[in-house]
Amino acid sequence: MSAAVQDFSELTCPECGHVKRERMPTDACQYFYDCQGCGMVLKPKAGDCCVFCSYGTVPCPPIQIARAQGADAPGCCA
Ligand SMILES: [Zn+2]
Repeated sequence: MSAAVQDFSELTCPECGHVKRERMPTDACQYFYDCQGCGMVLKPKAGDCCVFCSYGTVPCPPIQIARAQGADAPGCCA
């Protein structure tokens, strides 16, 4: 797997629309995220493993790798 994994994602708050570019951990998921616009604690939507998969422009690294390998993205925290 040589596909470049992006480790930055732009999170968009579903509550206030605040967009923030955040670095993603490459070996773990981030389940909670505090919006810096309105202070709401974001949690993943049902079926998503982390906030980046739900609200980011780029899914989290484990999912990117799984997709690059053609796998149907499993939960990255499994
Ligand atoms: Zn917000």
